[in-house]
Amino acid sequence: MGSPLEPTSLTLGAATVSVSSLSGLIGVAAFFFFAFLAIFWIALVFWTWRDVRSRTQDVILQVTATLLVAVFSIGGLFIYLIVRPRQTLAELYERQLEEESLLAEMTERQTCPTCHYRVEGDFQLCPSCGTKLRRPCPRCDHLLELKWNVCPFCGYGGGSMESGRAPSRAPSRVER
Ligand SMILES: [Zn+2]
Ligand SMILES: [Zn+2]
Repeated sequence: MGSPLEPTSLTLGAATVSVSSLSGLIGVAAFFFFAFLAIFWIALVFWTWRDVRSRTQDVILQVTATLLVAVFSIGGLFIYLIVRPRQTLAELYERQLEEESLLAEMTERQTCPTCHYRVEGDFQLCPSCGTKLRRPCPRCDHLLELKWNVCPFCGYGGGSMESGRAPSRAPSRVER
C-alpha cells in the first residue's frame, strides 16, 4: 500500500534540496529582521518606562503607559507622546524654584521707577538718578509713599492738606 506514495515523497525531497540555499538565506534575513523588531520593541517599552517615570510618580499611570506601548508598539508610543505630561518632574521642580526665587526677589527688592536701579525700602531718593521715592512725615518722621495723603503712623494730614497738593485725578501708576 505504501508503494504509490514513494515517488511523490522523493520528488518533494528533491525540490526541498534544490531551494535549500535560497530558503536558508531568506531564513537568516527573516531571523535578523525579527530580532531587530524584537529589540526595537523592547527599546520602545524601556524608553517609555523611563520617560513616564521621569514625568509622574503615579504608578498606575506609569504601568498604563508602558503597557500601552508594549501592546500597540509604535502606535501606542504615538498615543503616549500625545497625552504624556508636558514637563518632567525635574523641570517642574526647577520652575517652582525659579518662581519662588523671583517672588522673593520681588518682595524684598524694589527698584527705582525711573531708572530701575535697586533701592531699599527706607530710601527717600534714588541713589542713581535722584528720583524722589518717599517723603518723611512732618510730624512723626516715618517714611511715607508719595501717593499717600495721610500718614498711617500718626494720622497727620487726615483733614487738612498742609502742602495744598491737589489729589491726582489721573491714576498714574508708576509700578509695572
Ligand atoms: Zn533712579
Ligand atoms: Zn506721621
